[in-house]
Amino acid sequence: MKDTGESKEQQFTVALRLRPLSDAELDESATIVAHRVDQQMVVLMDPLEDPDDVLRANRSREKTYMFDVAFDYSASQEEVFRGTTKGLIEGLISGYNATVFAYGPTGCGKTYTMLGTDKEPGIYVRTLNDLFRAIEETSDDMMYSVSMSYLEIYNEMIRDLLNPSSGFLDLREDSKGEIQVAGITEVSTINAQEVMELLVRGNRQRTQEPTAANQTSSRSHALLQVCVKQQSRSPELQQEVRFARLFMIDLAGSERAAQTQNRGQRLKEGAHINRSLLALGNCINALSDKNGHKYVNYRDSKLTRLLKDSLGGNSRTVMIAHISPASSAFEESRNTLAYADRAKSIRTRVKKNLLSVTYHMSQYTSIITELRAEVQRLQKKISEQDRRHSSERADIRHVQAEVQAHSSQEVERLREQLLQGFKEQMEIRRNLMELENSNNELQVETSRHLLIIADWEQERSRRRRKWRLEQQKESEGKEESEDWDSSESAPEASETREASTARENLLLLMSEQKNLHKQKE
Ligand code: ADP
Ligand code: MG
Repeated sequence: MKDTGESKEQQFTVALRLRPLSDAELDESATIVAHRVDQQMVVLMDPLEDPDDVLRANRSREKTYMFDVAFDYSASQEEVFRGTTKGLIEGLISGYNATVFAYGPTGCGKTYTMLGTDKEPGIYVRTLNDLFRAIEETSDDMMYSVSMSYLEIYNEMIRDLLNPSSGFLDLREDSKGEIQVAGITEVSTINAQEVMELLVRGNRQRTQEPTAANQTSSRSHALLQVCVKQQSRSPELQQEVRFARLFMIDLAGSERAAQTQNRGQRLKEGAHINRSLLALGNCINALSDKNGHKYVNYRDSKLTRLLKDSLGGNSRTVMIAHISPASSAFEESRNTLAYADRAKSIRTRVKKNLLSVTYHMSQYTSIITELRAEVQRLQKKISEQDRRHSSERADIRHVQAEVQAHSSQEVERLREQLLQGFKEQMEIRRNLMELENSNNELQVETSRHLLIIADWEQERSRRRRKWRLEQQKESEGKEESEDWDSSESAPEASETREASTARENLLLLMSEQKNLHKQKE
């Protein structure tokens, strides 16, 4: 990969979302202790009112937190999407990596924000919808390929949520140092409805915790990865390919990890501690260190290995922290707010991922390069030839001198013959050399024309595809109409003048080449 994109410093964006009180919370007559004050501020009130508690007596009962954006129960899915993720899409198709993750205790709305429901789809589908729309809008000039994978990390084991029967998958580092999941299913689709079905089906495959408060996936992380590759349709020989990865992550419940984290305990193997989440917390702690000198250990867990670029490196990253507003959730909410507050000071450096490829077009480039080398070789040969030629002339002078010395008639006749022989030999050599040079020029010309034809053919197949799509759309529209003639076939797009001239020239060049071969013989 060529690192030609400029890099920019980018802050970790941290959003906070407060969900509505749940029925269960209402049943236990919980009160609301967390409020959104304005677009950025959230206040949390300590529900404990115990005047005898000496420790708390002198403490302020409320604490405010500032975030990049704050949402409460009244915020719609669309508003949350617009306020957190929408802005990443333009970057994504220009080659900037991005990551969005949902953080918070179990039952606080992470899955609701990311996956959502059929009626109220979340960030996954809204993002893909927008991405496909952005691609459609620029697809006349750009070619895209989008692929998607969906996986779960549970107890440090990776499962493919689109193909759960494939067992546990491993992480591999590729030659560019990027972490990949070996053998993961990658789907290419640009239909948002299909995507939603895939994801809902995938989500049902997430590992369930029987003891969990809301019965679903409190210890599993779900990662949706979207890869976008883009390149221009212009027929340049050297093509710039941009590609970027978007991670959208529904993290495991933070309840146990956050407590461990806030007590400053080191990461350790424990029955109820989620290694990936703890490692994530440790990385965030180290990354947000004001002096910036802390060592960041990404290798501690699968999640942090996968997110290495997103956290400390090349990604625009958004964290959406979730809390319940209920008094009964006070401790967890305080832990979550403190954690999210720390994440605010992380800065990442982003740069465009550019890749200079030599595509099928490049075959021609290499042909031309080879031909150039060949021409150079021949030129060298010609100049050597010239040098030899002059030394041969020296030989002739020598012969002439001898001949003059003897000056007999017989010798004079021999001299004539010899000179004639030399001349003829020289002439033939020179002709051969010229023939070879024009052969090389012909080949360069031929390559150039082939190139034009190849371009045209690519353009034609693109047009045909577009025409077929339009026909399909039209035929769906015309289904009921009777005079619809389905036998119509694709219009044979007439060749551009450039392409047909290239074709004609190619034929001429080929016959010229034949002639040359004959002459050489
Ligand atoms: P988590 O994934 O964090 O464990 P869920 O997303 O499963 O939590 O949310 C728990 C419950 O609360 C679900 O029934 C969900 O539909 C509901 N819920 C969460 N956030 C909201 C919200 N903003 N508006 C309405 N219902 C919500
Ligand atoms: Mg969930």
